[in-house]
Amino acid sequence: MSSIPITVAHGDGIGPEIMDATLQIIQEAGAKLDIETIDIGEKVYEQGHTSGIAPESWDSLRRTKIFLKAPITTPQGGGYKSLNVTIRKSLGLFANVRPCVSYSPYVDTKHPTMNLVVIRENEEDTYAGIEHQQTDEVAQCLKLITRPGCERICRYAFEYALAHERKKITCFTKDNIMKLTDGLFHKVFDEIAAEYPQIESEHWIVDIGAAKMATSPEDFDVVLMPNLYGDILSDVAAQMTGSVGMAGSANIGQGIAMFEAIHGSAPRRAGQNLANPSGLLHGAIMMLVHIGQPEVAQAVHNAWLKTIEDGIHTYDVYSEQHSQQKVGTKEFAQAVVKRLGQNPSNLPAASYRTGEAAQLSVEITPTVPAKKDLVGVDVFIHRHGISPDDLGAQLQAVSGDGLAIKMVTNRGVKVWPEGFPETFCTDHWRCRFKATTESQTVKHEQIVSLLSRIAASGLDFIKTENLCHFDGKPSYSLGQGE
Ligand code: NAD
Repeated sequence: MSSIPITVAHGDGIGPEIMDATLQIIQEAGAKLDIETIDIGEKVYEQGHTSGIAPESWDSLRRTKIFLKAPITTPQGGGYKSLNVTIRKSLGLFANVRPCVSYSPYVDTKHPTMNLVVIRENEEDTYAGIEHQQTDEVAQCLKLITRPGCERICRYAFEYALAHERKKITCFTKDNIMKLTDGLFHKVFDEIAAEYPQIESEHWIVDIGAAKMATSPEDFDVVLMPNLYGDILSDVAAQMTGSVGMAGSANIGQGIAMFEAIHGSAPRRAGQNLANPSGLLHGAIMMLVHIGQPEVAQAVHNAWLKTIEDGIHTYDVYSEQHSQQKVGTKEFAQAVVKRLGQNPSNLPAASYRTGEAAQLSVEITPTVPAKKDLVGVDVFIHRHGISPDDLGAQLQAVSGDGLAIKMVTNRGVKVWPEGFPETFCTDHWRCRFKATTESQTVKHEQIVSLLSRIAASGLDFIKTENLCHFDGKPSYSLGQGE
C-alpha cells in the first residue's frame, strides 16, 4: 500500500490535542499517510489573513486534495470570514456527510437505536452570503438554490446510500412556503429518486420532519437537506446520540475532500488533556475509507467501539452508571491503540470494503435553456412615512410606455390596491409593474426608462427583479393576497 499525501491542520483550542490523538491511533493501525502540515485559525487570522488561512496553504490542499482538519476558534468581531465556509466554497465541497449513531447502553442517550446519516448541501442557500441592508428598517439575505447544486447533492445522496447499503432517503424542505427555491430542491430530489427505485424515498416539510426526527430518529436512515436546515438539524441529530464530541463529518467535492469533527475548539477545555478525540477520529475513519484504506478504517473503528464498550470514557460521555474509567485525551487514544485488532462484543462491528471508497462521482445534466420572456419588473423602493394609497398614486403617475403598476406589497403582503388597514408596513416596498397587455413582453429599455421616471419622481429605488416566464410559465411568486 503506497502512502497517500494528506494535508493536516491542528487548529485551535482542543484541536492540537485531539489531532495528536487521532493521528497516533490511525498511524498505529497502519494508515499509510504522507502528511503535510498547514496552519489555520486564530494565529493566521491575527497575521491579517481575514479567512484564517494563508495563501500558500491552498497549494498544499490543491496538491494533496485531502484535508484532515481540527476545529479552530473563530475570532469575534467584524472583518473576519468563516474559514469553514471559505474552504467549503473555494474548493467546491458540495456535500456534507454526518453519520449520527447511538452507542447505547454505553453512552447515555434517549434514542438508543438511532443510526442515521445527515447529508447536507454545503455551498448554496442563504450561505451564498449575499446580504444587503436596503433601507433603514430592512436587511436582506439572498437564498440561492440552483438546479446543478440540487442535482449534485441529490445524486450524491443516492450514490452514498447505495455504496453504504442504506435503504431510505428522506428529504426535508420548506417548499409549502418557498415554492421556487425549496420547491426546486424537492422537484430535483423526486426526479433523481425515480432513477434509484431500489432506494426508498420520501419528503417531509422540514418543521414536522425535524420534530419526527427528534422524537423517533430510528425511523430515518439518510436525511437529505438544503444547507441551512442541514446545518441546524445535523447538530441536533449529533447531540441526540449523546455528545457533540463523538460525531465526525466529511465535506466532499469533485476529487477533493475535507474531514473533521463536528464540534468547535472548546477553548475552555484546551490544554488540559480532557477533550474527547472521537469526533475527529470518526472524521479520520471516513477519510481512510475515502482514500482507499478501508481495512485500516475498519480496524480503528472496531477498536474504538470496543474502547467505548469497555467503559473507557472521556469526561463528556462519562457516567457513573455506564463507565468504568474516566480518562483524558491521551489515555483514551492509548486505550484505542491497545484494542487494535479487537471487535466490539455487543455493538455492531464496523465493516468497510475496498471499492466502497466514497470517491463517488456524480455527473450533472447539462442545462437546456428555456424560452424566457420578460413580462414585467418588481421595483423595490425605500420610502419612509407614506401610505400605501399615496405610494400607489405616485406609481400610477410614473406608469406608461407599456408598463403599469399592478400591485404594491410590504414584506410580501399586498397593501395596494385594496390593502388591509391593519397590515404593518415598513419603509421597504415591492412595486410590481407588468406589461400593459397580458400577452405582451417587455424590453430591458422599457425597464430602464421606468427607473428613470421613478428616480425623477423623487422615489428611491433600491433594486429590481425581472418577472419572467420560462417556457410560458410564470416564474415568480405572487404577493400574499394578490
Ligand atoms: P464547541 O463545539 O467548541 O463546544 C460546545 C460544548 O461542547 C462545550 O461545552 C465544549 O466543552 C463541549 N465539547 C466540544 N467538543 C468536545 C470534545 N471533543 N470533547 C469534550 N467536550 C467537547 O462550541 P462553541 O463553544 O460554540 O465554540 C467554540 C469555538 O469553536 C468558537 O470560536 C466557534 O466559532 C468555533 N467552532 C469551530 C468549528 C470548526 O472549526 N469546525 C465548528 C464549530 C465551532
